Amino acid sequence: MSEQQPSVGRIVHYVSYGTPGGEYKSECRAAIVTEVTEHPDADGTVGLCVLNPTGQFFNRNVAHAQDKAAGASDHPGGTWHWPERV
Ligand SMILES: [Zn+2]
Repeated sequence: MSEQQPSVGRIVHYVSYGTPGGEYKSECRAAIVTEVTEHPDADGTVGLCVLNPTGQFFNRNVAHAQDKAAGASDHPGGTWHWPERV
């Protein structure tokens, strides 16, 4: 699964930034891939349309979080990953 390449139109998770004081936790948000950044090393950087419960925003050059244990708390804010299996 970690070898799977993102493509335009796929739905992934974007990890929101939590606040330093913990008022807001870092959370997984649904996001649609809008572009795949061309890189010689194909490192998985993409553009996303992030779908928050209260609105959407667009983000370019979002880095792929390295696959490891599932869950937002395991991924840094501002990165994307494939949706966890539930
Ligand atoms: Zn997630």
